Amino acid sequence: KSKGKKRAKAAKQQVKMNAVLGAGIMGGGIAYQSAAKGIPVVMKDINQSALDLGLSEAAKILHKGMEKGKVTPKKMAATLNAITPTLEYSALKDADMVIEAVVENAKVKASVLKETEQAVGEDAIICSNTSTISINQLAESLDKPERFCGMHFFNPVHRMPLVEIIRGKDTSEDTINTVVATTMKMGKTPIVVNDCPGFLVNRVLFPYFAGFSKLMLDGADFVAVDKVMEKDFGWPMGPAYLLDVVGIDTADHAAGVMAEGIPERMQKIENDPVALQYRAERLGQKNQKGFYNYS
Ligand code: NAD
Repeated sequence: KSKGKKRAKAAKQQVKMNAVLGAGIMGGGIAYQSAAKGIPVVMKDINQSALDLGLSEAAKILHKGMEKGKVTPKKMAATLNAITPTLEYSALKDADMVIEAVVENAKVKASVLKETEQAVGEDAIICSNTSTISINQLAESLDKPERFCGMHFFNPVHRMPLVEIIRGKDTSEDTINTVVATTMKMGKTPIVVNDCPGFLVNRVLFPYFAGFSKLMLDGADFVAVDKVMEKDFGWPMGPAYLLDVVGIDTADHAAGVMAEGIPERMQKIENDPVALQYRAERLGQKNQKGFYNYS
């Protein structure tokens, strides 16, 4: 924490406006968090329906806060007003920092980052919320990789304190300091890590998911596994429920990237039950059906 404070103090740039690319689970959550902590944010997607959903998720969180007496109607209005939904890259031109949170696909991300660099000002910082894709690889799509780094939030963004800030080989210290300062302003706890498959948290989490898959292939019942991890072991949720929260599609893509990046820890699993869920379009909470049903 003290390291974070030192970095935040050393930051030369002050981020007054953020932009988020993608209004899905993560983009919507990041936009909410930025707005709630007083940094206005432009939220860009390619679908109007995704923008509507992103805004309604923010409204839902605020409503819950009001019910608990933690959020005033004035705060709710101010937070929602601070999120500007858009379908246009031109809306990014005044953003000091852009956080990319589109689908976990290296090609899509590379083209989105390229377009972003053309749309923003000279000094704007660009970050990616990728869970697993190499920051050095993504940086190749940019003319100025020194202003780029990973900024990895966790789901649900408004509740999870940690943000991993991933330093690419060309990322400047000024960039890292500014992103650390902004993370703290957004009410989160930053840790700075180097670029490697899965960074810190997913390097631990995905071999755990793989262990869960293997247990199921050995005949274990996922409800029983969740119960043991939650009730008996004391974790807030078990692996099946966590996969539903993360999104089975996102987890499946991420597991593939991890298996390529660290094959010694993540061997490929034949008939992986998680991959089978994905093929059956059971994506978790985002489409109301995953390991569990939510409708
Ligand atoms: P999601 O599927 O909920 O949302 C992705 C959004 O990106 C969609 O609204 C889609 O319309 C939009 N999109 C696609 N192409 C776009 C483009 N060219 N420009 C703008 N928007 C575009 O996905 P998500 O779960 O929010 O994940 C987003 C990123 O965050 C991924 O890189 C993922 O790995 C990462 N991440 C996810 C989690 C998680 O638990 N789901 C946690 C941490 C990080």
